[in-house]
Amino acid sequence: MAPAGPPYPLTFDFLVDDPEVARRFEETVRPVHTVLVALAELQEIPGFAVTAVVADDFVAAVQDAINRSDEDGPEEAFTVERIGGLVAAKNVALMQDYSNVRIVFDPTPWRTENPVALAHAIYLAAHELAHVLFGRLRWISGALGRSGVSLRDSNRAGTQHRADRR
Ligand SMILES: [Zn+2]
Repeated sequence: MAPAGPPYPLTFDFLVDDPEVARRFEETVRPVHTVLVALAELQEIPGFAVTAVVADDFVAAVQDAINRSDEDGPEEAFTVERIGGLVAAKNVALMQDYSNVRIVFDPTPWRTENPVALAHAIYLAAHELAHVLFGRLRWISGALGRSGVSLRDSNRAGTQHRADRR
């Protein structure tokens, strides 16, 4: 995939009823993405497209992202129960080379102006966006292509986060 225009495009998919949640989400994710792009440019990492999704129906949005990915084999339903806890965010690489990634977020951290919630939101956005950089680097280094680790395994492991509140 060779995206036209900027090499590191960011698009949003707001699947939430509350426009304030959408606004806060964009205001958090956009500057985090700017930092990520600066790091990517510094390391001369080939371009990648990120779609940041915030969804009231988190599970449905994750399943939709998985359905859009180029994984082989039968589709497997994504459920929060399957990993034994609530999930706050999920990275789904749409392409094997991590050139196109959808990141689905639960809107909870963006529902209030509370600074603790905002701190959690920034942490979550930075963590999830960093996964894109790691996935891209892993692909470039050949780890994903040669180790037998499938995109499905990669999507399943390590890129989903429990929503435990501390
Ligand atoms: Zn993670």
